[in-house]
Amino acid sequence: MQARSNIILPIVSSEPDPCFEGGGISARLIVRPSPRARTMRLRVDPRTASVVLTVPRRVSHRQAVKWAVGHRDWIEKALAEIPPASRIEQGSEVPLYGIAHRVDWRPDRSRVVSVQDGVILMGGPAETIEPRLLRWLKRHALALLDRETREYAAKAGVKVARTGVGDPLSRWGSCSESGGIRYSWRLVLVPEWVRRATVAHEVAHRVHMNHGPDFHALVETLFEADPGPARSWLRRNGPSLHRIARRR
Ligand SMILES: [Zn+2]
Repeated sequence: MQARSNIILPIVSSEPDPCFEGGGISARLIVRPSPRARTMRLRVDPRTASVVLTVPRRVSHRQAVKWAVGHRDWIEKALAEIPPASRIEQGSEVPLYGIAHRVDWRPDRSRVVSVQDGVILMGGPAETIEPRLLRWLKRHALALLDRETREYAAKAGVKVARTGVGDPLSRWGSCSESGGIRYSWRLVLVPEWVRRATVAHEVAHRVHMNHGPDFHALVETLFEADPGPARSWLRRNGPSLHRIARRR
């Protein structure tokens, strides 16, 4: 995970910020002044296909833009390497539980989504396949994650006030001081063992609000295996999962 500044200052500039193109993706530069940044840091976010330049406060907007333009080749190569954004439509493949499931839509079928032998069956209006399937995936994700959270919470002897799902870009789960846990709904798109390792991680934060040795020992006790491979699986595959049902 990268540390990111939450402070976004308004950009005052007469010229529009430059645009970069690579692999069919065009992205405008986002300049973020940060009081914590010591040097300029450029990154291409593979999840949102955006180009973000974090700059120390003393650097002017004009200097920042000029510096980024000097790195055009690097930026455009990075854009070209981003996995393509994919829509959910009739015939597309959705990696439910990390296993490719084909969307099989027919106009005469029930609107209720069901899963059978690696196929997602659905009816209803063709033009709303994506939003309706997304709603189903989020509900299904919440049901699975809630059940597994309760299971691990009982094992750890803690209470989890509530579970929820959202679509955060930089985390798969987060545990609040007040005892609630929020997950990325996209965890329904990862293999079960990766999802469970993530749940064990968040539940262990109900006991230890840090990443110390006791915390790691508890995650391993709850998950009953080394959670390391699950973390690396998410690092490797996260960017392409974040491209599902995105517009660009
Ligand atoms: Zn953590």
